[in-house]
Amino acid sequence: MTVAVIIVAAGRGIRAGSALPKQWQSLAGKSVLARTVAAFADVGRIVLVLHPDDMVRGLAEFGGKVTLVAGGETRTDSVRNALEALDNTGVSKVLIHDGARPLTPPAVVAAVVRALDHGPAAAVGLAVTDALWRVADGTVSGTEDRSGLYRAQTPQGFDFASILAAYRAHPAPAADDVEIAGRAGLPVAIVPGSEDNLKITWAEDFARAERILGAEMDVRLGNGFDVHAFCEGDHVVLCGVRVPHSRGLLGHSDADVGMHALTDAIYGALAEGDIGRHFPPSDPQWKGAASEIFLAHAAALARDKGYTISNVDVTLICEHPKIGPHAVEMAAELSRITGMAPTRVSVKATTSERLGFTGREEGIAAIATATLVSK
Ligand code: MG
Repeated sequence: MTVAVIIVAAGRGIRAGSALPKQWQSLAGKSVLARTVAAFADVGRIVLVLHPDDMVRGLAEFGGKVTLVAGGETRTDSVRNALEALDNTGVSKVLIHDGARPLTPPAVVAAVVRALDHGPAAAVGLAVTDALWRVADGTVSGTEDRSGLYRAQTPQGFDFASILAAYRAHPAPAADDVEIAGRAGLPVAIVPGSEDNLKITWAEDFARAERILGAEMDVRLGNGFDVHAFCEGDHVVLCGVRVPHSRGLLGHSDADVGMHALTDAIYGALAEGDIGRHFPPSDPQWKGAASEIFLAHAAALARDKGYTISNVDVTLICEHPKIGPHAVEMAAELSRITGMAPTRVSVKATTSERLGFTGREEGIAAIATATLVSK
């Protein structure tokens, strides 16, 4: 069984109130279409149907990941182009989906694919539960019986050969693929849909989609604390910046106390222990190592686990050296290593009013906080 997914995104989407078609607009940091494509990435081969004017953009965003097909005058023409492109490629089942439905739950998609084991067509729908009124001139003129009525969603799934034959036999435009299947006499089974599977049509739909995404978003906070003692030397390395000083910092690596605290904060947010777990001090290969290796590893681990580092805040605690003149350079260095925007990286400093070990200038302490959000 080979499944293909046709994602139809050739419309201009002007109702969403922007010069940019809605499928290319950003939804919580990613384009609507990127989210739709991602929702079907594990289902099968994806054929993305785009407006001819959008092919260059499509190639830049999805090149190599999907097959791009140019859309036609109508939705029906667009789907037909994609179906013909899949002919003789060994596809046995095809799902056809609106590019503007980015939040289709995986369970809904899986149910449509399963339903095709038992019939030639299956489509996602939701039973109408609200009462239905007929309204004329702003006044209710009657009620309608809602029994047996469903709201159509996508994906709509088909036996590939059957829907291709239906398209070839019935070329007139249709509202959707279920209508084409109906013209060909194919029985279409209903698969329960989801209220989250909304089609972004109006500007306010973006806010609703962001609320749905926000409810799923995993926000994680981590903290880190580190201390290194002063020793003989003529400089210290803090947050990746070499700062001249009358002493150095004692440590197995370059003793960059600020970067160690930040690295531990990221590991902490991931519940992945600390630097010592990933880079054991007993291992001689890390002696004198630049701490950049540790921070880059933690940032990559966050990415691999599906998180974006949203912001970090590092506080260095010492009487000397003075941090202020170097703070901007330090933040820039942390930004470079983590790949974060400079506006999301904070480095600041405080003294401990001459109290305690930092006040007696026996060493430098650092605390750090990192916020991670799931992508
Ligand atoms: Mg340390």
